[in-house]
Amino acid sequence: MSSRYDLHAHTVCSDGILTPAELVARARAQGVEVLALTDHDTTEGVSEAAAAAAASGIALIPGAEISVTWEGQTVHVVGLGLDPANPVLAQGLARQRAFRDWRAQEIARRLEKRRIHGALEGAARLARGSILSRTHFARFLLEQGYVRSAQRAFKQFLARGGAAYVPGKWAALPEVVGWIRGAGGQAVIAHPARYPLSAGRLRRLITEFKDCGGAGIEVVCGRHDPQANLRFAAVALEHGLLASLGSDYHGLEGPWVDLGRLAPLPESCTPVWHDWKVLRTEDSGLSSPPSVLGPQRSVLSPQSSI
Ligand code: AMP
Ligand code: MN
Ligand code: MN
Ligand code: MN
Repeated sequence: MSSRYDLHAHTVCSDGILTPAELVARARAQGVEVLALTDHDTTEGVSEAAAAAAASGIALIPGAEISVTWEGQTVHVVGLGLDPANPVLAQGLARQRAFRDWRAQEIARRLEKRRIHGALEGAARLARGSILSRTHFARFLLEQGYVRSAQRAFKQFLARGGAAYVPGKWAALPEVVGWIRGAGGQAVIAHPARYPLSAGRLRRLITEFKDCGGAGIEVVCGRHDPQANLRFAAVALEHGLLASLGSDYHGLEGPWVDLGRLAPLPESCTPVWHDWKVLRTEDSGLSSPPSVLGPQRSVLSPQSSI
């Protein structure tokens, strides 16, 4: 299976393995023509990725995957086509990162009680961008031989119920959707099948998301099984949401699907990109344009066929 669009991917700027330029090169090699960079709570990698994309002839959609606390549950909202320079968005993301820094100290303190020393320094050493993620702690615990796999690190220490779990205190849903919209982007609920929510609470989440200006939901996702894709195609149709498609690629370690290897959106879906205007490089009047999705939703791409 291959997909020309891949609208959810990570780099070393958050908890991915590849640099932005390496991510773009791999996406291109996998046949992706429109790639969104969606690192957790940062847009740090966008300029490097946009330059690499412009040089290699694919369109780069600037994005971010923003953590939200909704009724005590962490939910991820992907922003697509946002302007990284927007000051309200930038301030909001900076606040999220400040929470991450505080949480990292708390996680390390809890690990210390379990006689696991130096976790803060260890996780920070493995982080190459501006955020500290639980993934960096998982890699530290694996590296030091405390666990046999990253999955075990989450289960035993970092996930809810684990010995070093610290509940998320992220921004609220309307706030995050507001940041994304204010920066000219579209808000999309990430990997909806992953949340431990009852059908009723999930319906409430989606209704509130739509009411505050949310645009879409990931129907096809690297972390969904085929039944989940069909289930969320029906949810998108019922709620009048656009459908997105993304691998959630972090690198080849772990449970992730490779870039551009997703099932197509089910027929009933209206793609989140349905009104994106694709400009060919030669039409744009620029010799080497940054491939961006601007406020008019224009994707600059050297290909004419998208
Ligand atoms: P954070 O945003 O720092 O709380 O970390 C969340 C990230 O941890 C997710 O985006 C995943 O990349 C990773 N993650 C969460 N749960 C697991 C798990 N069970 N196994 C491996 N990685 C996980
Ligand atoms: Mn992640
Ligand atoms: Mn996520
Ligand atoms: Mn993700």
